[in-house]
Amino acid sequence: MVMFKRGSRPFWWSGGFLMVAALVVAVVGGPTGAHSVADAATPVSRCGDVAVRPWCDTALSPDARATRLLAAMTIDERIALLGGDPNSSPHTGAQLPNTRLGIPAVNYTDGPVGPRQGSATAMPAPIAVAAAFNPAVAQSEGAEIATEAKFKGNDAVFAPTVNIERNLQAGRSYEAYSEEPFLVGSTAVAWIKGAQATGVMADVKHFAVNNQEGQLGAAPFTGSIGSRFLINALVDERTLREVYLPHFEASVKQAGVATLMCSYNMVNSTYACENSHLLQQVLQRDWGYKGIVLSDYAAAHNTAANLTNGLDFEPLGLAVTDFSYHPQQIMAALAAGMASQSDVDTHVSRILRTMFAFGIFDRAAFINDDAQIDKTADNAAAERVEEQAITLLKNTNSTLPIGRQVKTIAVIGPYADQFVTGGGSGGITPFSVTTALAGIRARAGSGVTVTYNDGSNQTAAASAAKAADLAIVVVGDVASEGQDKSCISLNCSTDTENSASVLLLQGKNCATTTCPVNGLDEDGLITSVAAANPKTVVVLETGTAVLTPWRDKVAAVIEAWYPGQDGGTAIARVLFGDVNPSGHLPVTFPASADQLPTAGNPAAYPGLGVVETYSEKLQVGYRWYDAHQFTPAYPFGFGLSYTTFRYSNLSVVPGRAATQNVASVKMTVTNTGTTAGSATPQLYLSKPGTAALPQVVRQLEGYHSVSLAPGESTTVTFPLNDRSFASWDMTRPSTADTSGSWVIPVGFYAIAVGDSSRSLSLTTQLG
Ligand code: BGC
Repeated sequence: MVMFKRGSRPFWWSGGFLMVAALVVAVVGGPTGAHSVADAATPVSRCGDVAVRPWCDTALSPDARATRLLAAMTIDERIALLGGDPNSSPHTGAQLPNTRLGIPAVNYTDGPVGPRQGSATAMPAPIAVAAAFNPAVAQSEGAEIATEAKFKGNDAVFAPTVNIERNLQAGRSYEAYSEEPFLVGSTAVAWIKGAQATGVMADVKHFAVNNQEGQLGAAPFTGSIGSRFLINALVDERTLREVYLPHFEASVKQAGVATLMCSYNMVNSTYACENSHLLQQVLQRDWGYKGIVLSDYAAAHNTAANLTNGLDFEPLGLAVTDFSYHPQQIMAALAAGMASQSDVDTHVSRILRTMFAFGIFDRAAFINDDAQIDKTADNAAAERVEEQAITLLKNTNSTLPIGRQVKTIAVIGPYADQFVTGGGSGGITPFSVTTALAGIRARAGSGVTVTYNDGSNQTAAASAAKAADLAIVVVGDVASEGQDKSCISLNCSTDTENSASVLLLQGKNCATTTCPVNGLDEDGLITSVAAANPKTVVVLETGTAVLTPWRDKVAAVIEAWYPGQDGGTAIARVLFGDVNPSGHLPVTFPASADQLPTAGNPAAYPGLGVVETYSEKLQVGYRWYDAHQFTPAYPFGFGLSYTTFRYSNLSVVPGRAATQNVASVKMTVTNTGTTAGSATPQLYLSKPGTAALPQVVRQLEGYHSVSLAPGESTTVTFPLNDRSFASWDMTRPSTADTSGSWVIPVGFYAIAVGDSSRSLSLTTQLG
C-alpha cells in the first residue's frame, strides 16, 4: 500500500481502490492557564454578548460554559460539530464553525517536525529531540513548532507522535521518540507543555499500539503485509500498561494534552477508535482525560461503535458519505437505535469544554500569515536543538574535534548535499536548508580545502579520501509513513525505500529532480573510503538505528539523525569542536539484524494475515538485549563527549510526603576533562521478579542532562515515586478495573546509575 498526500489531504491507495479501510493540568480547574497566554497575544473575544450567549461568561468554568452552549444547540448543530470541514485547506483538517452561536472553527495542522502547510522551519526529527535526553530541548521544539502553526492560522497541531519504537523497520520511527516509555513520556510531556504554552493545542498520537506501517508485499497483496490500516495488535494488558501506554498517560496527567488521536490499527481485535477499553476505561476513567479524542484520517469505521465507545471528533473532511461522522451516518445510527443522543451530547460537550478551556472562544482567530514568523530565530532554534541531539558513537585517537593540522577535508556521499528527513505527515518543506556539506564548508573557512564527491563511484570516492587529511562520509536512509523499511541496513535502498512514491512523500518528485540511486551501496562506500584514509569520520543522517558493519574500520562515528533545516551548521560545529556533543541513544543499535526482538518471527512482525502478536511482551528495545545477553553495536543511552565525567557518591534519600516521592537517589557528577560538556547520568531500576510477575533486567526511571565546566562537580537527584516501583498485575483486578491493578512487588530493588544502559558504574539497593 502506498499513501500519497496531496496538498493537505491524504489519499490511501491499495491495488487501485480507495480504502476507507485534563484535560490540561494547567486549565483543569478553569480556563485561566490557557487564557493568559492566548489573550495576551490576541485579546479579541469571538464569543459574543453574555446577555444573549450565557456561555460567554468567562467567570464560569469550561464545564459550565459547555453545558450552557450545548443546551442552546439544535440536534443538527450538535451532530455537525463531530465531523471535519471538507474545505479545510490549507490546514490539514478543521472543525466547522457555527456562526449562529459563535462557535469558532478549529484549524489543525500536521505535524511533529513542523507545520505541514506551505513551507516552514524544518526542525530536527523527534528522534533527535529524544536523543538530547533533555526535556528543555523538547519543550523548545514544541514551542517553536506550535508558534509557527499558530502563525499559519492553526489552533492545534497534530503532534507529538509518541508510539514506541518496537521495530527499527517502522517507517515512522523518525517521527517518534524512543524504544523506552519513560524517555518517550518525559520528552512528550515537555514538548506538549512547550507547545500548549503558546495557546495552541497539542495532539498526542497515535493511541495506541500503532507501531508499524506494513511491508511491501508481492502482487496481488502489494503493501498489505502488516498494513497499519488492518493490523490487529495482540498485546497483553500488562505490556499495554507498562510499555505502550505510560507516555500517553503522562501526556494526559502531567502535560494536560488537549487532544488525542486514536490510531488506524486494531488493539486486541477492536479498532482503536472504537475501543472502549482504551478510550473509555483507560483514557477517560482511569486517567481522567477530559480532552478531545479525534480519529486518525479514515481510522473511524463504524459510526455506532465510534459514537458509543469514545470517539469525539473525526477531523477528516466529509466530502463523501463514507466517513464515520458524516451527519447522515450519525443520524442513521441514531435512528437505528445503535447510538443515543446522549452519546452525541457527550462528544459535543467534550469538544466545547476543551475549546473553552483553551480560550478559543475568548480570543481572535489566529491569522495565517507567514510574515509573523521570525524565520531567522526559528532557524537558530532548529540549529540549537540539533546541537544537543547529535550523538557521538565513536572517536578513536581523538580524531574529533577536527584540529588545525587538518588542511584538506574530503566530504563524500549523496546525503552530504541534500536535506534529509522523513516522509508522510511528518514531512516538511523547509524555509531554507544548510546541508552537511554547506555547513562544513562554511565552518572550515578559507585555510582549509573542502572537496566533495557524491559517492556514486566508490573508486573515485576512495581517491578523493586518499588525497585528503580527513574524510567525512555522510550517509542516510529513506523512511516514511505509509511503508516500513524492508531492512535496517543502510544498503536497504532497494525498490521499497527508493520507490518513486515513497520519495514523493518526502517531497522529492523523481520525475523532475534527481533522486537517490537505487541500491546505492553505502556500507561499501564507507568501507572503501575507510580503506583509503584511516581518518574517516562517518556522519549518519538516519531516522533511527541502522546496522553499522563498518564501525571497526572507521575512526569516528556521529549520529546526526534527520537534523532539521540548519542541521549542516550543527554538524559542522560538533565536528570542529565549537559544540561538545551530548546526545545519547534513544534506541539500541543492534550488532546484527538477528538481534532484533522480532527477528525470525513473522507472527511478531510484520504479522500473519492481519494478526500481529506482541510475544516479546515487556522486552522491547534494550530490555530484550539485556534478557538475551546480546551485545549491541551501541547500547541504549550511549553517547560520547569530548570530555570525560566521573560519577560518585550514590545515595538513597527517603522521600518526603510533600513531594510524593517514595525515595530520591542522589549522586555527584564531575567533569574530569579539560573541555566544558554535558553529562547524561541515567538511573535504571531492577525490580524483584517472581514466576507470577516476572520483571525485565532493568528499566530507565530517571535521567539528567547537566552542563559542567572542566573540573566542576554537581549533585543530581532522581525522584522516584510509587509508579517507578509498580508493576501491572493482571491477576489482581480491582472493583473499578477488571483488567488488573498497579502493585509494588515486595523485595529488593537494585538501583544502577551510569551513562548508558550497559555502563552502570554505581549501584545500590532499596527494599
Ligand atoms: C497520519 C496522521 C496525520 C494525518 C493527517 C495520517 O495518515 O497517520 O499522523 O496527522 O494523516 O495528515
